[in-house]
Amino acid sequence: MAKTITVIPGDGIGPEVTEATLAVLQAAGAELEYDEQLAGVTALEKLHNPLPEETLDSIRRNEVVLKGPLTTPSGTGFRSINVTIRKEFDLYANVRPVWTIVPGGRYEDIDLVLIRENTEGLYVGVEHYIGMEGDPKAAAESVMIITRHGAERISRYAFEYARKNGRKKVTLAHKANILKYTQGLFLDVAHEVAKDYPEIEWEDRIIDATAMQLVLDPYRFDVLVMENMFGDILSDLMAGLVGGLGFAPAGNIGETHAMFEAVHGSAPDIAGQGVANPTSLLMSACMMLDHLGDPETATRIRDALDRVVQAGEERTVDMGGSSSTRDFTAALVRALS
Ligand code: NAD
Repeated sequence: MAKTITVIPGDGIGPEVTEATLAVLQAAGAELEYDEQLAGVTALEKLHNPLPEETLDSIRRNEVVLKGPLTTPSGTGFRSINVTIRKEFDLYANVRPVWTIVPGGRYEDIDLVLIRENTEGLYVGVEHYIGMEGDPKAAAESVMIITRHGAERISRYAFEYARKNGRKKVTLAHKANILKYTQGLFLDVAHEVAKDYPEIEWEDRIIDATAMQLVLDPYRFDVLVMENMFGDILSDLMAGLVGGLGFAPAGNIGETHAMFEAVHGSAPDIAGQGVANPTSLLMSACMMLDHLGDPETATRIRDALDRVVQAGEERTVDMGGSSSTRDFTAALVRALS
């Protein structure tokens, strides 16, 4: 029986890459029904609410979401809808794999996975201004929260992921040399969890050195695990190793619910031009199929993408080609037929 999922096309290029992704899912024969919902600026304009209750209800019911990018105003305006959904459904594990899709880039044969803690750290948003001498914004303060529970479940998720996917090594990137309490707790807990997985190589590294090593020699890593903000930054760095955000998928996984999303933003500079690369959302949809227990369809789509990109005739502009989103999608659909 077809599984119903919530689909949020999102803002900017979101509807374009969502249309492309659903066309490829259909061509691959994915047994899915779609409950389409609004969020972000599109929802604000149409329903006067960036995260309508209907959308939340749909997610509650369907438990699995495929989401395009959402525009988030910087500094002022509504809080990030992405962060709100992750919190509401306790989607604590942000899984961000990167692998080489387009050959001839900076590196060949990259195959890494970053597991980022999604609910704690500085992103809990506990921050305020401190007024002094008539200046209401003389200083600002933000609180980093790490709990034993949060550190333990994300570390365990990383090791379980490694075990299930035949990965050899887990690296914890941290800053426990400076932030001795918060980062120190994360490090202590991860050390304890590592003992339950003796077959998996385990190391911890300082975050700044990890960033340098990822650029110099990414092959020394396999699965990486870290707290929220470090993971946010390093996962984009890792996307840069394989050609940018257009190629990077993501899953946000909780105990009961999961959201799969394009990692890139709503790209207002190219929205509506029909040139966006749908690969990020499409590969997120493949992660979703794996999650739903249909890895065969996911593998067929990944193979079709490989064949189209290797053939080189249809590539979007960010891949160095000149194909429109529609032409690239049509090539994927042909490759699946
Ligand atoms: P962005 O990722 O939207 O764009 C950065 C650059 O990458 C732009 O030049 C854009 O054209 C290009 N690009 C992005 N996706 C592409 C694709 N699929 N194909 C081809 N080129 C692509 O980042 P930004 O401009 O910093 O952010 C724009 C908006 O998106 C902001 O409101 C931001 O808050 C939001 N955002 C949302 C998410 C999300 O929903 N997960 C993630 C990041 C940013």
